[in-house]
Amino acid sequence: MGGVELKEVELMIIGSGPAGVAAAVEAARAGVKVCLVDENPMPGGQIYRQLSTGFEVQDAVMLGRDYLRGQKLLAEFEDVCNQVEYDKDTLIWGIFPDNEVSLLQADRSFSMRYRKLIVAVGAYDRPVPFPGWTLPGVFTAGGAQRLVKTQRVLPGERILLVGTGPLLLALAKQITDAGGTVVGIVETGRIHNRFRLLKAAWGQWQLISDAWHYFRGIRKAGIPLWRGHIILEARGEGRVEEVVVAEVDEQWNPRAGTQRTLSVDTVCVGYGFIPSTELTRLAQCEHRYDPLLGGWIPVRAENMETSVADIYAVGDCAGVAGSMVALDEGRIAGLAAAHSLGYLSSVEALGRMRPIRKSLAALMRLRRVLDEISVPRPGLYQLAKDDTIVCRCEEITLGEIREALKDGANDMNEVKRMTRMGMGHCQGRMCGPALQEIIALEKGLPAADIAYLNPRPPVKPIPLSALAEHTNSQ
Ligand SMILES: Cc1cc2nc3c(=O)[nH]c(=O)nc-3n(C[C@H](O)[C@H](O)[C@H](O)COP(=O)(O)OP(=O)(O)OC[C@H]3O[C@@H](n4cnc5c(N)ncnc54)[C@H](O)[C@@H]3O)c2cc1C
Repeated sequence: MGGVELKEVELMIIGSGPAGVAAAVEAARAGVKVCLVDENPMPGGQIYRQLSTGFEVQDAVMLGRDYLRGQKLLAEFEDVCNQVEYDKDTLIWGIFPDNEVSLLQADRSFSMRYRKLIVAVGAYDRPVPFPGWTLPGVFTAGGAQRLVKTQRVLPGERILLVGTGPLLLALAKQITDAGGTVVGIVETGRIHNRFRLLKAAWGQWQLISDAWHYFRGIRKAGIPLWRGHIILEARGEGRVEEVVVAEVDEQWNPRAGTQRTLSVDTVCVGYGFIPSTELTRLAQCEHRYDPLLGGWIPVRAENMETSVADIYAVGDCAGVAGSMVALDEGRIAGLAAAHSLGYLSSVEALGRMRPIRKSLAALMRLRRVLDEISVPRPGLYQLAKDDTIVCRCEEITLGEIREALKDGANDMNEVKRMTRMGMGHCQGRMCGPALQEIIALEKGLPAADIAYLNPRPPVKPIPLSALAEHTNSQ
């Protein structure tokens, strides 16, 4: 896409969630001219997601703790806004050699260059295929939360939450606060060592207070919490009418004779998150498989720089660890970029980073313990049957994947070529993580040995007309 001179920005940041905004604040405070880009219409990302335009907030307290924390961060952002060009509703659809990125803004596609780039594009719900997961009424937990947070719309009337991790607790509280009925929480993980958890959590008063707040809300609403249980199936004529759950063993395989059927019209499934690594993979950054996360993450130095010069990765896209970690990592990368652009001396940058690094180290100790409870076990990927659709875009079933493997496919890219799996609208974001685990189980290999799907631009769908008229100027 060379030719005409491209507009160059000093520091481009992709994503205005906690990580991206924190990076922008620190870099801008140091004097860097920042270009912050987000495909969303408003900053805040997942956790500090704002209400849609058209809503007016009369009592911010009603919107919960995260909303109020988000307002604090956005106030910091407001203070540096004369140093930041904020491009909302703008998708970065590709990263190319020579520090070039391609953007889509109001159906116009164009390229720009950066001197430094911070990728802070977050994560997405881990998709888990099980019989009935394509029925209307089955949501990802993040999708349901988005409805409640941005539109004040409940996903259904009798809602069951299944999965693992703190998001289920937060979501139960958010749904009940919004007037909805949560029938129960099916938490697949089990806490084996409460002492270790308490030790790692010691000092994390904000997180402890949040957990207490959620548990209290759940108890007050009388919501049952079934630990060590998993969803087996969602059933219904044309939409969810009931769900079968069962107790699990250590590997999350269902224990015989423990099945129970629950009458619900909505299931929100939250088995953790998958880091959005499409852009860092496209940029050829080195990635490693993190077994505790159950996904790929970019390899980074202490200052958040990836293996590719000038590119940093922070927050959930570099290892899902929560909003406080995202904030700390964003601040470190913002300072590191400001230093490498010559705005801060090493002494200044390191001095500002020191307390943030300390906070980050403590948060990561707790994160590892939480990950051990929630890391997906093999039973999760044995829920699907031969006729269960795994690739929703191309409607490829588990049976078809098994056939392709029998016919000689050895990895994800070969299954993709033989079945069209991962070639649809989502470009493998929905089916890729499950496919990796399925191949690993079928072949008896560790998931880390199954190479990921080759990334291709555009990383998200863009109109063909925009591509045809792509220009090198904004
Ligand atoms: C669905 C979901 C729900 C969550 N809910 C909670 C919760 O209730 N409580 C909690 O403690 N934690 C929650 N988390 C975790 C928490 O949100 C994150 O840890 C935190 O928001 C991560 O911040 P981040 O800045 O790394 O990413 P995010 O907050 O995800 O922000 C990433 C931003 O990047 C933008 N973006 C992505 N791709 C592109 C692109 N190609 N071009 C332009 N912009 C792009 C997105 O629009 C988004 O605004 C949730 C995470 C997810 C994925």
